[in-house]
Amino acid sequence: MPLLPIVKYPNDILRRKAQDVTVFDDKLQQLIDDMFETMRKAPGVGLAAPQVNVPLRLTVIEYGEQEDDSDEPVKLQQYVLINPEITRFSPETEVAAEGCLSMPGLVGDVERSLSVTVRAQNRRGQPVKLKAEGWLARIFQHEIDHLNGVMYVDKADNLRSLDEDAETDAN
Ligand code: ZN
Repeated sequence: MPLLPIVKYPNDILRRKAQDVTVFDDKLQQLIDDMFETMRKAPGVGLAAPQVNVPLRLTVIEYGEQEDDSDEPVKLQQYVLINPEITRFSPETEVAAEGCLSMPGLVGDVERSLSVTVRAQNRRGQPVKLKAEGWLARIFQHEIDHLNGVMYVDKADNLRSLDEDAETDAN
């Protein structure tokens, strides 16, 4: 499975609204597999199709959280969101540092809803409804923004280089 080149800001495709996926064929399955591989290699926790120069409403996410008091390795969960729509944003929000594979070396503080409900289709085109909280909810919001031409820097405060952030973390 080939790795796909990741489009970097300010490429125009990152600013365009992506189109609905209507055909769930072998080509789409291959694209999804290639996007997972590209995301893992980057490495990242989410990747939207416009970031690999494909103007479709499709995003892949791989994320897991360590259970408290557990020595078990983190169980990663894969999500494929096709034609996703956030149907509920919690009024409760949280500010945290975010980065983006299309803007390497930068982070910024973004306020996001603590939980969201997403309606989407899976890789076979079947309807799914997902509820996410915390970091997963943040990733969903970041990736779905990409499908609407929105970058996290539009919403971020205190944009800074990763090096500075590392120093901040160390304090
Ligand atoms: Zn991004």
